[in-house]
Amino acid sequence: MRIGIISSGGDSPGMNAAIRAITRCALDRGVEVIGIHEGWQGVVDGGAKYQRFDWRSAGGILQWGGTILGTARSDIFRTIPGRRQAVRNLVNAGIDGLVVIGGDGSLTGALYLYQEWGDHLAALAAEGALPAELAQNPRPFRIVGLPGSIDNDQYGTDMSIGADTALNTIVEAVDKLSSTADSHQRTFVVEVMGRRCGYLALMGAVATGADWVLIPEEELDARWHHRMTEALKRGREAGRRHDIILVAEGARHSDGLPIRAETIQEVLRNRLGVEARVTVLGHVQRGGSPSAFERVMSSRLGEAAVEYIIGPDPTPVMIGLVNNQTKATPLTEVVAQSQAVNAEIDQGNFRNALVLRGQSFRDSLDLLKTLTRAEPREELADKGRIAILTGGPDAPGMNAVLRTALRIARNEGQDVVGVRDGFQGLARGDIWDLNWMDVQNWINLGGSELGAIRYELTEADLPGIVKTIKAWDIRGLIAVGGMDTYEQVGVLVKGWNRHPELEIPMICVPATIDGNLPGTEVAIGADTALNNIVDAVDKIKYTAGAAHRAFIVEVMGRRCGYLGLMAGIATGAEMELLPEDNATLETLLRDTELLREGFRKGKKLGIVIMSENAFPYYDTEFVRRVMEAESNAAFEVRESILGHLQRGGVPTAFDRIQGSRLGAHAAKQIMSDIAEKRTGAQVVGIMRRGVVFTPFAEALAQMDWENWRPKEQPFLQWHGLADTLAKPGPGERAGEG
Ligand code: ADP
Repeated sequence: MRIGIISSGGDSPGMNAAIRAITRCALDRGVEVIGIHEGWQGVVDGGAKYQRFDWRSAGGILQWGGTILGTARSDIFRTIPGRRQAVRNLVNAGIDGLVVIGGDGSLTGALYLYQEWGDHLAALAAEGALPAELAQNPRPFRIVGLPGSIDNDQYGTDMSIGADTALNTIVEAVDKLSSTADSHQRTFVVEVMGRRCGYLALMGAVATGADWVLIPEEELDARWHHRMTEALKRGREAGRRHDIILVAEGARHSDGLPIRAETIQEVLRNRLGVEARVTVLGHVQRGGSPSAFERVMSSRLGEAAVEYIIGPDPTPVMIGLVNNQTKATPLTEVVAQSQAVNAEIDQGNFRNALVLRGQSFRDSLDLLKTLTRAEPREELADKGRIAILTGGPDAPGMNAVLRTALRIARNEGQDVVGVRDGFQGLARGDIWDLNWMDVQNWINLGGSELGAIRYELTEADLPGIVKTIKAWDIRGLIAVGGMDTYEQVGVLVKGWNRHPELEIPMICVPATIDGNLPGTEVAIGADTALNNIVDAVDKIKYTAGAAHRAFIVEVMGRRCGYLGLMAGIATGAEMELLPEDNATLETLLRDTELLREGFRKGKKLGIVIMSENAFPYYDTEFVRRVMEAESNAAFEVRESILGHLQRGGVPTAFDRIQGSRLGAHAAKQIMSDIAEKRTGAQVVGIMRRGVVFTPFAEALAQMDWENWRPKEQPFLQWHGLADTLAKPGPGERAGEG
């Protein structure tokens, strides 16, 4: 079998990761690969645009933005003769199927090509342009699409390739604008991409703590000026020092007239006498090195595309990521649904468009409307207090959880207190009232503004905690942190029979870079850590020079290989050494032999990602010595222990958004527990089916205590993918990355 790959339409970061995975997974399964340059235009042009790909063709490209295949808009492909020429070239090149990475337009073109395939063959045979036998018994041409668009406007996937990176770019830019805006008490209007889709603007606003957002899916009647300016005015009166307004490029008045950044600037000038600054982010949103999430997702989608195209079902599909699982949706459905949303927006049926965008989009819009309020909707009611704390070690994104939980609860008149330094503060009564504006600028801060320290909580602390609970009338507790924090909650739970005052509803929110928590597939902080690792490894790669060198990069995670495996996939590492693999000196020698083989075949650089506890008895320095000793001078070995820089820095968009989501759910749940007098501890998490609450005892029962990680770890299923992408291709010279 032989397949072609194209990237088409607007480029997006992550396309290269997909191209790499498609190429290598296909070659691995004995399928030949043709890279076709310049999108559909290249398919029509033929000739030199078709290039035979080997293992190395896709080497060293994982960290590049854009697409090595190039992309183009093609008017000729929109015509019947253009597509006929495409069919002729594809058949002549012996191509049985095509993987198309692109947006709605590109995938619409793919569907037409599929539907017309038989007709084109017959016509070409009649013209004598193709042998008649090809037209008589045509094998169905196989088509698989992958969603490639920073706008994240495609049906059939939760995320499209490029959206996460674009969001991070927006977050970085708005963080910078916020700091200067705050100094000068300025108002900034920031225009982001999204012609018919407000995803980037909406999620960008959640992730940056923006104060107003305008998106194409929302009906903006004549009173939007008034609503926006009133809200901004109230915000300033409440003590806000600056305002950020995010507007999607496709936002429009209900009569269809576009709302540009300048439109908003004028409204602010006329109504508030404010001279707002305008920043149009434009094409920087498309560019840059893909984020860690992007690289892992694109690799998974690429693998799934190959599995599908060599499988039995000829139905053309798009492979997307739905609830963190790859999912094939028929292309007819993808195209029809995408066109439906666009039509609703174009016709001004905003409510229908919003429905078609799905529940989680609407939830985010609702959440944003609460978060942007200048003050809570309800006065403080006499409902006791919720205490909120963060346990150590801290993780980036904790502040997003705190900020959102506080505002969601306080909005309903619920009093919330912050506890300084986790359970130690709770025992000492180190507590203060948290107010709406206290958390205004927390979203982009790393660590925890409440303080998160490691603390050995014992029974002896319980009387102090009881005292605090009584003194502050605390009726519920939200504890944000990792396994240490869960254990501390466990100490409280155990103390219930002796201290009935402790029997209040409690919710653990998962936040640790280690990724080792039960009841969730996502822990807040891990995405930031992963991006920190990926940034570091990208830099390390440049230091290898001409030497034959292997780097052992040690990453955190305690006895859990989540960071190690994800970092391995995202950096294109040659191998990962994970605690789950139960590696021994013997396996280490075998791994070294593999590396030696690779270097002998021409490899210049090797990356080995090693989890901090991959070996119970051997540390990284020991592993380095073994490898160097066994390298037979084929390569040298350096080690790089990333340490605490993995935990630091500004949280990524993903951690801020998921942190906000979990914070909101935790706050709502604990308020309802209090109202209905339910007690007991729970763990909130993000699983396949969305946000779920697991009873505390059940969550703990999922743990493998000896190894301090859950017994079941779904991420381990991607071990095979990492191995496939890294190994030297069949019969090929070893490839880099
Ligand atoms: P995107 O794929 O990012 O949405 P475009 O809408 O520009 O980008 O589409 C990319 C290319 O896909 C177009 O230049 C054209 O060649 C092809 N294409 C788009 N829409 C159609 C269509 N309705 N019929 C045939 N080809 C199309």
